[in-house]
Amino acid sequence: MAENNKNTQFQSIKGFYDILPEHTPLWLKLEDTARQVLGQYGYRNIRMPAVESTDLFVRSVGEHTDIVEKEMYSWVDELNGDRLTLRPEGTAGCVRAVVEHSLTYNGPQRLWYMGPMFRHENVQKGRQRQFHQIGAEAFGYTGPDVEAEQIIMLARLWRALGLTDVELQINTIGDASERAEYRKTLIAYFEQHAGLLDEDARRRLHSNPLRILDSKNPRMQAMIEAAPKLMDQLGAETRVHYDGLCRMLQEAGVAFVHNPRLVRGLDYYNRTVFEWVTTRLGSQGTIAGGGRYDTLVERLGGQPTPACGFAMGMERIFLLMQEYGVTASDAPDVYLINVGAEAERLALNVAEQLREAGLSVAMHAGGGSFKSQMKKADRSGARYAVIIAEDEVRVGQVSLKPLREAGQQRSCSVNECIAQLNIAQLNMAQLNKEQLKT
Ligand code: ATP
Ligand code: MG
Repeated sequence: MAENNKNTQFQSIKGFYDILPEHTPLWLKLEDTARQVLGQYGYRNIRMPAVESTDLFVRSVGEHTDIVEKEMYSWVDELNGDRLTLRPEGTAGCVRAVVEHSLTYNGPQRLWYMGPMFRHENVQKGRQRQFHQIGAEAFGYTGPDVEAEQIIMLARLWRALGLTDVELQINTIGDASERAEYRKTLIAYFEQHAGLLDEDARRRLHSNPLRILDSKNPRMQAMIEAAPKLMDQLGAETRVHYDGLCRMLQEAGVAFVHNPRLVRGLDYYNRTVFEWVTTRLGSQGTIAGGGRYDTLVERLGGQPTPACGFAMGMERIFLLMQEYGVTASDAPDVYLINVGAEAERLALNVAEQLREAGLSVAMHAGGGSFKSQMKKADRSGARYAVIIAEDEVRVGQVSLKPLREAGQQRSCSVNECIAQLNIAQLNMAQLNKEQLKT
């Protein structure tokens, strides 16, 4: 290698990216709000590894799905020959963990997780190769009530995040036997219109014909629109289940659209499926999707256990929050200005006193004139400057100066200063709490 390569600057890999400090406050707002709302519904946090065996995804997500066919990062472990995969989604690993640790042994479980997922996709806005999901799964509930609850929970989350206008689409895809019947009907129908099928559709005709319904190809729309509907082939039980969900959502005041073409791209679903869609992000408009998957636990070696869950794409929600003008700040409460050797010495201690009282403090470090420190205080976004300069050192006090609102600078003891700041902080907290009540 050439000598001058010694100092090569590296770049992040295409589709993998940094989330920089200017954006993390909004990410934290999303995460904190989601945590809070999930907790309000009794969901408990679980954390699974990012690597699972490849077979887990083949068996759960399904061999003939986009994810397994072309999106997984898989490799063979050189040491022992294990076939491994970076998780493309969270449900499979969550079910694996539930089965492995017998988590439903003592009754139903509501679980949630958050973390990075990996898919080898075409990179575009709202579509990365490493992206993040928050997912929730409920195990041990057969009825539509827990589906309704998950949907109502998401509606609350959108409100709490300031996202209005997200559309809920729901559908039922029936149980396995109903779908098998429908599959035959559908294959026959598409065969009659073979001339209209694009390459993707022809490939899926016998492996995953339901997925053709999902196609966005404009040339196929009319033909897809006229295809036989699964709804017309469902048994009584499945219909009652779906009607139950619709009624519960109506009673809860959650608006929805019945979308008979919604099938979701993963094999494990049965009966209820749903997606939340926005028109404000271009073509990557689905911010969350989920549904029921009653046979997956058993398929992965557990006792038969009904289940349903969803996952939301955090990047897309982040983009949507930006789109709606939602803001968040990580500015400190106080920027602590200290001018002169004696003030510098006192500052460390004063900063600790303020922090002890629960305030966040950016202490100016590295000296400099009062003017230059004041500039930094302003730029920090802090609501207040606490100043220790020669005058303050002499009289044993500090000066408190509001930076974001009108108000005089005043001289006070550290304790008075804390009292003053705590009142301001309480007012702020009250305001934030009011915002959460939606
Ligand atoms: P899409 O149809 O957009 O490819 P999907 O059906 O593959 O979505 P799911 O597997 O249902 O997506 O994942 C749930 C959510 O995760 C999606 O609704 C989306 O918000 C998000 N998501 C999925 N893939 C990506 C990705 N590559 N980049 C960013 N977010 C993603
Ligand atoms: Mg996809």
